[in-house]
Parts: sequence; structure tokens; C-alpha cells
Amino acid sequence: MSSLSPAARFDAVIIGGGITGAGVARDCAMRGMKTLLLEAGGPGCKTTAASTHLIHGGLRYLLYDRLTTHVTSWDSGHIVRVAGNLLTRLPIIWPVYSWHRHGIETVETLLEAYDRFQAMKEGRPHLRLDAAETLKAVPGLKAEGLVGSVAFDEWVTDAVGLVEANLGSARRHGAEVRCGAAATGLLVSEGRVAGVLTDSGPIGTGVVVNASGPWIARTAAWAGASIEVTLRKGSHLVYDRRLFPVGLIMQAPAAITPQGGDRYVFVIPLADRTLVGPTDLPGPADPDDTVSDPEEASWILDSVRPYFTGFPADYRRVMVGSRPILDAAGNEKLLSRGFEVFDHEARDRVAGLVTVGGGKMSDFRLMAETATDLVCRKLGVNASCRTHLETLSGQPAAAAPGFEMPSRFLQDFLKKRPRLRELHALSHLGWSLARHWAGQACLGRRLARADHLAAHFR
Ligand SMILES: Cc1cc2nc3c(=O)[nH]c(=O)nc-3n(C[C@H](O)[C@H](O)[C@H](O)COP(=O)(O)OP(=O)(O)OC[C@H]3O[C@@H](n4cnc5c(N)ncnc54)[C@H](O)[C@@H]3O)c2cc1C
Repeated sequence: MSSLSPAARFDAVIIGGGITGAGVARDCAMRGMKTLLLEAGGPGCKTTAASTHLIHGGLRYLLYDRLTTHVTSWDSGHIVRVAGNLLTRLPIIWPVYSWHRHGIETVETLLEAYDRFQAMKEGRPHLRLDAAETLKAVPGLKAEGLVGSVAFDEWVTDAVGLVEANLGSARRHGAEVRCGAAATGLLVSEGRVAGVLTDSGPIGTGVVVNASGPWIARTAAWAGASIEVTLRKGSHLVYDRRLFPVGLIMQAPAAITPQGGDRYVFVIPLADRTLVGPTDLPGPADPDDTVSDPEEASWILDSVRPYFTGFPADYRRVMVGSRPILDAAGNEKLLSRGFEVFDHEARDRVAGLVTVGGGKMSDFRLMAETATDLVCRKLGVNASCRTHLETLSGQPAAAAPGFEMPSRFLQDFLKKRPRLRELHALSHLGWSLARHWAGQACLGRRLARADHLAAHFR
């Protein structure tokens, strides 16, 4: 590339081999750039491995950040088409009890609103079950106070396997991937990042992509740039077997929920394990200090136990990670889970450095595309993104249906306005509620049978 200094060996060096960095490495390599990824540990070993392992649109963001649900569902659709062999459709049941703050009509309204986004990621429309059918679908659930449930589906994946498959694809397109290779600093000369320092010597590059997850602020600080990151800690209990045939979402009893409000716990059966969690608590100042407190495990168990005649407590371990959230700390309930790509040349007058962070595993492909577009502009590379056109194993991907993204103007306008973001989300839900009641009045209540779940969510 003409813009590289003579000492440069790579067009792009990516710091971080979680799902974000792996996606960027694949995209850069597919656009013909000489690419290197450095990962201090193993592929996806930090936040990505500690996730709930869902490729989802973010049902709960419909309450306060609808555009994030929209964008994430849109990109999840691409992930389903390029990584389909690594994903499994999981039916998830949301039981509603008479003492829950949100009754079944409100919960079904939320799922009706989500159905529109489900279509983007090849999800199925939700189903509603009465109490008797819910008890058939979820063995061991307590009957007392149970009103019914709503069933929907999300994709589960092996998160580390998804990282490895992206890295495998990146390698096949020519990228070099070094695991167990930490970046220890940045080579900064005359306001430009010219390379990465490692224990085995400096590596020259045209652009450094900082994809170090919860560590992005530390990495950017090596070049004198500052990023505000809010860490939110999340723990899961990990069981060494599948506890249920379906996934569950349970409302934590109000009595044990800190600061009131609503908290939910997922029970997610994977191929050979079950994850129960996560918590969502203020994280440490330094991501290296992310540890799970013993109270978190108790809180998770206390959240699910009241609903079962006997919920096992023999979990094998507790898994913890810190979500890197790029939103000003404030009302934590309203923190956006959207992603950002920072051009440090425009922002901090440090050329040659791009940071990508925030977001979810469920929109990693779009995060990578946005970051790689910027890398291309910086290096004068004229190549478009193809990560949605080819599967991770190298086959042509199925054609994408023509779902629209939300308007760029609206996304930018609401980005820094959390209260307006919430108002925007709630006004849509208000309409959904009106439609829900109108539908019930005109068409009556439609209830499904438990034995219909498997066929519907196949
Ligand atoms: C509890 C929890 C549950 C979640 N559940 C979901 C979910 O179900 N679905 C979903 O879509 N999202 C989920 N998320 C969010 C998702 O996990 C993250 O958005 C995503 O994994 C972040 O990936 P990343 O690559 O940016 O960060 P990471 O996975 O943390 O990767 C960053 C990597 O950078 C490396 N690194 C750091 N510094 C250096 C350095 N100096 N040199 C070399 N390497 C370095 C680290 O070792 C690390 O591997 C969850 C998050 C948490 C915490």
C-alpha cells in the first residue's frame, strides 16, 4: 500500500482476538489488506467466552433503546446466514406469575413488538401458552400463581467457536493470527501510530485497530487518546449438563433485586452445558480486576429457585466478564449497548489508530464492517465489504432479504440523548399495546399447545 512507511510490514494490525477483533481481521483480509491480529490469550478467551452465548436482537432494549434492537437484529440476520452451522435455534419460555409487575398482556405485547425484528434474523413469531401447557413445556416449574407464558426463539452458539471460525476464515484470506502475543504499547511518532510494541519486538503497520474489548481505554491511552468506557460485570453459573430442553427467562423476585426495578435471569442450555445468569452490576475500574463476588452466585440461585420444586445447586463454576459499554455513566438502566468506531485522527489528533468497541457479539460483523471501512479510507484501499456474502467456511452465503436499517439521522440524533431514546422506545410500545388489545378484542386470544413448540421453533 502506498501510504505505508518503508518499515511497515502490515497494512492493519488488530489488537484483541475476541469476537470484535476476529471480525475485523476477517474483513480486512477479505478486502486484500496485509493483516495481523495479536491476542494476549486464546481466541475469544475474555468477554466473548463469558457471554450468554446468544445471537439475539436484544429483546429488553425495546424498552429503552429500540434502534439498538433494530440494528442488532439486522446484523444477526447476516450472522445467521454466514455462520449458520455454528448456531442452534433455542426456544425460550418466559413464564409469568400473578405477582410479576408486568402481566402476561404486557409481556406478550413486548414479544409482538419483537416479532418484527425476529423476522430479520430468521426467528419465528412468538407463541402464548396457558398455565397448564407451560407446566408441560417446563418440567418442575411451580404451578401456584402461574398465569401462563410466552415462547420465542433466539440463536445459541459456541462463542469461542464463532471466534475461531472467523479467525480461520481470516487466515484463509491471508491474515496472520498470533495468540499468546500481547501488545505492550504503541509506536507513536510525530502524531502518528506507526506500529505496535510486543515482547518480540516492534511491528510496523499502516493502521492499528484497537479491538481490545474492556481494555480499549488502556490501549488508546498508549497513544495519548482517551475513551470513556463503563464496565458492567456479568456472572453466570455454569452447569456441566443440559438442565432443561428449552431456554427460560425468569424474573428475579423483587425482594432480592438491588435498587428495585426488574431483573431477569436466563437459563440457557448449550450443547453440553447450561448457563444460568447473568448478573448486571457495576464493573471494576480496571478490567483485569473482573471477579465474581460470592453474592452473585447466591443472587442467581435465589432468582430461579422460587419457581421450581427443586432447582439444582451443583453448578461447576462461575463465569464472569465485563461488558464494555460506550455510554456516559448515569442512569445505568438506560445505558446504550450500541457500538462506536473512533477515528483518533479526527478525535484526538493521533493518526493511524482506530478503536472499535461497545456493541454485542450479535452485531460483531457490522462493527467489523464499520471499522474496516474507516481503515480502508485511511489507507486508500478501494474494496467493499464481503463478509455478508461468504460463509465462514468459504461458501457463497444465502441472499439477504431486503430489511431496512434505521435512518442514520435518527441513530445519530438519539445516540447521546438517553431520555429521548427511552421516549422513542416507549412510544412504539404504546402503539404495540393498543394493537395488542385491539387484536384480542377482534380475534380473541390465541393459545398454543406445548407439543406444538418443537415444530414451530424447528
Ligand atoms: C455476562 C455477559 C453476557 C453477554 N451476553 C451476550 C450475549 O448473549 N449475546 C451478545 O451478543 N453479547 C453478549 N455480551 C456482550 C459480548 O460478550 C461482548 O460485546 C463481546 O464479547 C465483546 O467482544 P470483544 O472482542 O470486543 O471483547 P473481548 O471478548 O474481551 O476481546 C478482547 C480481547 O482483547 C485481548 N486484549 C486486550 N488487551 C490486549 C493486548 N494489549 N494485546 C493483545 N490482546 C489484548 C483480550 O485478551 C481479549 O481476548 C455479553 C457480555 C457479558 C459480559
